Amino acid sequence: MKIKCSCNNLIIDQTDYLTNKGYLISDTQWFDFWDLIDQAIENPKKTKKERADTCWELRILNVFKGIWECNHCGNLYIDGKDKELILYTPDLKKYHRVLDKIE
Ligand SMILES: [Zn+2]
Repeated sequence: MKIKCSCNNLIIDQTDYLTNKGYLISDTQWFDFWDLIDQAIENPKKTKKERADTCWELRILNVFKGIWECNHCGNLYIDGKDKELILYTPDLKKYHRVLDKIE
């Protein structure tokens, strides 16, 4: 996937562990997600198939939206409800590394 930023920089998403890509989750889905995580790891009596089913439920929840930061101007592009990209522009037009790993 390639996103042409409004500053003309090209945001390239063709590999894993990108420092300018992340995933966004709404507060309304946050607790459902963690409830399923708890179910998956806190119930040792479940069968292997039941654990696999729970993992599958997590995957199909589809609660995360993609988010990319332009490493030139700091614009943020977020997946919209209809898979269109929505642009958010920071007041300071610089790359803030908001999606980079916190060390
Ligand atoms: Zn840009």
